[in-house]
Amino acid sequence: MNLPKYYSALNPFRRYFQDGLPILCYHKTEPVPAGARIKGLYLDPGLFQQQIRELAEDGFAFVSPGLMSGAKAVAITFDDGFVSNLHAAVPVMSGFGCRAINYLVADRIGKTSDWESAEGGEARPLMDEPQIREWMAAGNWIGAHTCTHPRLSRIPRDRAREEIVAGKKKLEDRFGLPIEHFAYPFGDYDDAVADLVREAGFKTACTMDRGVNARGTDPFRLRRWTARYATRTIGALFQRWLGIRS
Ligand SMILES: [Zn+2]
Repeated sequence: MNLPKYYSALNPFRRYFQDGLPILCYHKTEPVPAGARIKGLYLDPGLFQQQIRELAEDGFAFVSPGLMSGAKAVAITFDDGFVSNLHAAVPVMSGFGCRAINYLVADRIGKTSDWESAEGGEARPLMDEPQIREWMAAGNWIGAHTCTHPRLSRIPRDRAREEIVAGKKKLEDRFGLPIEHFAYPFGDYDDAVADLVREAGFKTACTMDRGVNARGTDPFRLRRWTARYATRTIGALFQRWLGIRS
């Protein structure tokens, strides 16, 4: 099946979304800064609002990634815990009865996404503890995303285990609630990493593999679509066609 690469509006996804639980993945809810290297990690708040409004008006319930009820629902997920999620996304979500989970990097709370600078991206501010409490007070959830955001399949197994286990415990100690959901940093995982996450006591783990989740989907390999701005594919094709015609 040739699945669309990114989510920007509901229409092309209707036929996929009726087959199970779709999960959308967001990162930074702020306008793309000039010269940004990895534009797909930004989403303009106006477009975010458009996407959430469309799902709400179409009758989707907003659920946690673990919930496979068979009802018309979508799970909204945020990776990394950016401050812009609190400032730009929460006011939008509150207006549409939308709740979402944010996967936090336990050792980077109140700091920046420094793992991005190493890859040519821009490190952006991450929520501190009071901001995360505000995020939760608005009805949202938190999940774990390791301690330091490594590529788990590429580091020694003991270190990967420590990143997963300590990342969970630090959040539980700090916020006083069970942390049951996990997202693989960079969407990077393999069988051994998925086993470590299960052994750590999580109930679900989100990948960056595209697709909708059915009842039979492995809860440690949940599929997601990255939501972002619309691609200009159709416009580009049209321009090319004009070019050929003229
Ligand atoms: Zn991440």
